[in-house]
Amino acid sequence: MMKYFRIGYILGCVLLFCVVTSCQQKAGNSEKAGVAISFDDRFIDEWYALRPMFQKYNAKVTFYITCGDSLKQEEIRKLKELQDDGHEIGFHGTIHGKSTEMITLGAEQYTQMELSPGLGFMHAAGFQPTSYAHPGGNHNEQVDAVLHAKGFKILRDVAISRRVFMGIPLYVLAPRIMNWIYYKFDQQSIVDALLIDQDSGITDAEMKDALVKAKETNTALMLFGHEPLYAKPVNGEYGFNVSFLETILKEAREQNLRFYTMTELVETK
Ligand SMILES: [Zn+2]
Repeated sequence: MMKYFRIGYILGCVLLFCVVTSCQQKAGNSEKAGVAISFDDRFIDEWYALRPMFQKYNAKVTFYITCGDSLKQEEIRKLKELQDDGHEIGFHGTIHGKSTEMITLGAEQYTQMELSPGLGFMHAAGFQPTSYAHPGGNHNEQVDAVLHAKGFKILRDVAISRRVFMGIPLYVLAPRIMNWIYYKFDQQSIVDALLIDQDSGITDAEMKDALVKAKETNTALMLFGHEPLYAKPVNGEYGFNVSFLETILKEAREQNLRFYTMTELVETK
């Protein structure tokens, strides 16, 4: 009789061990974990020059184009090549204006000023953008409603980890604690991406930590920048360090993270 108890006890322990391990595996699930990087304005030649780096890391990103006039043949060729590589071509307005001011003139007026002309140029060039980045991160519910009605599946706003006013730091946040820059695959269509330009002051260690958090929480870290720069900005340049971008791509690969375009975020179940 004692023998059966002992076998029962051993079987019980084995079962408990299996349950605990499978729970742990479930808690540590990181199959969707990733990073969604986007770039704003119209640095088409400069972004295109990063193509070998994107290929090296098998990275997919989103380019948000401000389209105040028709795209040149050379620009169309480069953007199509990037699109064929798996990158997304999104829209970033016609005049890069302040949408919360334009919308006070009515939805029709806002559409005529900021959306229709640029979208017309993009359609004429063969692009059908499905995601939108708010110029200057400026928007409200009315603006978002117009953009959703226009068919944009995801609208991207701006998150900044460090604010400086007249040389005085107002706040500094570690990207790890900024929960709103991690996409939870809940089909949220209004999102914030963290600025990675040089003036963001984000360190390599902070960025690595943020990528680890995406892995731990099975979310996608959303980042964005402007012009690729190879030195300190001069003459009003604004952008990110290309070496910093490479650090991000490299770490993402080491963490086995997936690369998402912005529309893919909202389409991933
Ligand atoms: Zn912009």
